[in-house]
Amino acid sequence: MIDAAIKILKETSSLLVITGAGISAESGVPTFRGKDGLWQNYRAEDLATPWAFERDPETVWRWYDWRRGIIKNAEPNKGHIAIKELEELYEKFFLITQNVDGLHERTGVKNMIEIHGNLWRVRCTRENKTFVLPDVPLKEIPPRCSCGALVRPDVVWFGESIPVELMNKAYSILESYETLIVAGTSGVVYPVASFPTFMKSKGGKVIEINLEKTPISSIADISIIGKTGDILPEVVEGLKKIF
Ligand code: NAD
Repeated sequence: MIDAAIKILKETSSLLVITGAGISAESGVPTFRGKDGLWQNYRAEDLATPWAFERDPETVWRWYDWRRGIIKNAEPNKGHIAIKELEELYEKFFLITQNVDGLHERTGVKNMIEIHGNLWRVRCTRENKTFVLPDVPLKEIPPRCSCGALVRPDVVWFGESIPVELMNKAYSILESYETLIVAGTSGVVYPVASFPTFMKSKGGKVIEINLEKTPISSIADISIIGKTGDILPEVVEGLKKIF
């Protein structure tokens, strides 16, 4: 399977990678779905929707604080680093991550978008201006903007739309890239879940890496079952021998 993926990648001149929570699992950051996923113990509707924040902003804020606490002590893993190495191998490379943990950015990868936001960034609920959360204890939870309105995490919650400029960017990349690697995503959160089908419909190739079969597996050219932290470095090593 890995050899077949390397064969496709060898013939590719433009590479798009999409990642989900699975790529950060080996850094100790819990996923939402899958084995040990957060939704085994929590309900998305209670914590990751605009209605949850309206009803109980403090609980939602504290849940994000708990997640920030985990991520603060996490490091990018071999999978994140391999993706940065892929960027160095391809002249035309782009990463679309659904992750909000900022771990890709910490590898130095340049051509990327965080399509669901970043949980270190916060946003005023009235003025929509964004700022980076200061690393100091807060006087009030959730904090308030200087205008008096509550501040929320600058992430895309269930029931919200991805900002239009990010969607436009994602579709223009999908249009013009030949091959897609989908790594560590359950393939059920839209619209990103539809990107592999879009890639196939225009004649591109799709390579999936996941611990288990997903809805993407049946349309992927190659579906590799395994950890992204094991498979991606192997793929990069294989490519380095050829390039
Ligand atoms: P998900 O939680 O729905 O699915 C995770 C997927 O990763 C599962 O299919 C699982 O089988 C797979 N997986 C787990 N460990 C893996 C590993 N080591 N190697 C390969 N695959 C592995 O995640 P999703 O598809 O990204 O979608 C849900 C939403 O979750 C996204 O919007 C994202 O913002 C959010 N999320 C992000 C983080 C993060 O930033 N680290 C964490 C949890 C959830």
